Amino acid sequence: MTALASSKRLVVKIGSSILVDEAKGEIRRDWLEALSDDVARLQKAGCEVVVVSSGAIRLGRRHLKLAPGPLKLEESQAAAATGQIQLAHAYQAALARHGITVAQVLLTLDDSEERRRYLNARQTMGTLLGLKAVPVINENDTVATDEIRFGDNDRLGARVAEMISADTLVLLSDIDGLYTGDPRTDATATFIPEIREITPEIEAMGGSAASEMSNGGMVTKLMAARIAMAAGCRMAIADGRTVGALGALIDGAARCSWFLPEASPLSARKRWIKGSLKTAGTLTVDDGAVRALSAGKSLLPAGITAIEGDFKRGDVVDVKDRVGRTLARGLVAYAAEDARRIAGRKSVEIERLLGFRGRDEMVHRDDLVVE
Ligand code: GLU
Repeated sequence: MTALASSKRLVVKIGSSILVDEAKGEIRRDWLEALSDDVARLQKAGCEVVVVSSGAIRLGRRHLKLAPGPLKLEESQAAAATGQIQLAHAYQAALARHGITVAQVLLTLDDSEERRRYLNARQTMGTLLGLKAVPVINENDTVATDEIRFGDNDRLGARVAEMISADTLVLLSDIDGLYTGDPRTDATATFIPEIREITPEIEAMGGSAASEMSNGGMVTKLMAARIAMAAGCRMAIADGRTVGALGALIDGAARCSWFLPEASPLSARKRWIKGSLKTAGTLTVDDGAVRALSAGKSLLPAGITAIEGDFKRGDVVDVKDRVGRTLARGLVAYAAEDARRIAGRKSVEIERLLGFRGRDEMVHRDDLVVE
């Protein structure tokens, strides 16, 4: 079975140059329908799929009849506003053929950099996937300014993969992988099928083999690989130009370059939690919770006897037993004030106590590292 066929949570990034027909300035419907068939097939096989799609600016600029050449910031913002609707409609129509619901998610750089927004986006995406919807994500180019934008969807795709602990990220682009040089100008350039570490040599190769067609050349793809690998997510650079390109990759009928991380997404996430230098507070727990934690369970509000610190949702906190021994460390699902209100109470009481229904767990087991 190919890595793609065995993926449980997949992010597919689609570049503008393969989705939008340059001559007509329109979406390639046959291509998108084939992609939708492949997404439906993956979903049937139990894989959750998230699409990160470019193309809004390219579509919008044609629609608004903007002159060729570089766009001013406000022009690309206007183009994105127009193009994004077309993009979303096209995905909706294509996936509706399979009865699949599409959910549009527009992100900005802040959503991945700022902890609280990151967690919100993570939770929304998790909910959508649980409901079997396919999130179609793009950067919110209409409000993004030069200082606060990714600018390329390669890194956005990697951030999304990190955010939702995806096991696989595929960048569908106009080149089938990483080469030792630029294959279009260098006859000796050889294809590299597998990369386990981004060394300075690998980085140098990326510098010379940039794709001219979109913002994201090989340089941003290698940056994306770095983010994905650190998050325990394997990443492929693949040629997505032909109709049915994703299906060919799933079947192993097309080649691509794989960037393979050492760790799994969950262990990478836990390593990150464990390695955080500063904790924002302490949760003291009773003996029942100590037993639950050592059995690999989540920490529920009921087991908490005391809370120290002024933490926010998503901060790293220590978990200690009655005598002050540190047992675990984790990402807390409630801000300190709310946590104090629900400590010692049953999860079914959360909504009545806080006025909203948050998570049942104070620290979910996926967010918890037991010492
Ligand atoms: N977000 C941009 C768009 O949808 C594309 C960025 C990229 O080319 O990677 O037009």
